[in-house]
Amino acid sequence: MIVAMQEKATEDQIDAVTNAMMEAGVNVHRTTGVSQTILAGVGPTASLDLETFEQLPGVLNVHRITAPYKLAGRAFRPEGTVVEFPNGAKIGGNQVAVIAGPCAIENSEQIFTIAKCVKAAGAKFLRGGAFKPRSSPYAFQGLGIPGLKLMHEAAEENGLMAVSEVMELSQIEAMLPYTDCFQVGARNMQNFNLLRELGQIRKPVLLKRGIAATIEELLLSSEYIMSGGNYDVILCERGIRTYETSTRNTMDISAIPVVHKLSHLPIVGDPSHGTGRRDMVAPMAKAAVAAGADAILVEIHPNADKAASDAAQTLYFDQFEKLMADLCVIATAVGRTL
Ligand code: PEP
Ligand code: MN
Repeated sequence: MIVAMQEKATEDQIDAVTNAMMEAGVNVHRTTGVSQTILAGVGPTASLDLETFEQLPGVLNVHRITAPYKLAGRAFRPEGTVVEFPNGAKIGGNQVAVIAGPCAIENSEQIFTIAKCVKAAGAKFLRGGAFKPRSSPYAFQGLGIPGLKLMHEAAEENGLMAVSEVMELSQIEAMLPYTDCFQVGARNMQNFNLLRELGQIRKPVLLKRGIAATIEELLLSSEYIMSGGNYDVILCERGIRTYETSTRNTMDISAIPVVHKLSHLPIVGDPSHGTGRRDMVAPMAKAAVAAGADAILVEIHPNADKAASDAAQTLYFDQFEKLMADLCVIATAVGRTL
């Protein structure tokens, strides 16, 4: 259930409503928006008489949530979620963010060179994999924590936020000091134990859509994180598997407006994994921004063809710089900034 408080509701009134909901056996999640506080009640609400709550002082209105996801639904935060980072960067809101970096952190020189390029291009997020989920066990699996430390240093030196993928529960604690945003990869979108644990930390989570997941399943996975109290979830469309073989995946651009309609969570477009082809990355990045994406995630490398993983979809620096300029034009055309 969603209880929307009146704009002028006092803290005492909000507390009283929260207590009444808890006494009725539901878990209460609170969000304070620009103009009003919203209390979401999750649990056995079907048998509750909503009118009782509607009559409490300070309450504007009460309604049931019919969607299976409760906290990810737009009603929880009608004005949309803006995830804020310590370097001042935001994902959500009017400015389109750019997250760039190599598929995998390979060595110190590589990641420091890339960090400099990301900063010079005006992006605020450096992303690189230290733990890589590879289809083949014989492919490069990533440098692990030593690699992540390198990326964290490179990010810090350039005022960037470090984004990296966590593959399993046991990695969370070791990654925490070196990670500003935890990526959950497509293969782990339904690793529910991992998602629950990420609900317990207080750092943003970038949740990628599974290769065969519906948008509803993506939102339900985000609910695992949010129900633990971590509301800083950023969704990511990275292409889904279809019968088309011209591209590595089929980038579902329509997922972007669909997510915006159903949910308050920001959504990132990842045209690198979405297409798997360097020549298709820029057009699909532009399409994602035009469709309303809150950020773009792209793989870049100074020697893209020789990248240790995902070389075929990785941009060279000059291609990335050109893309940044083009995205600026598209963002302006749709009433946003870059
Ligand atoms: C990645 O981001 O490098 C990656 C492995 O992505 P995905 O989980 O979308 O395949
Ligand atoms: Mn990759």
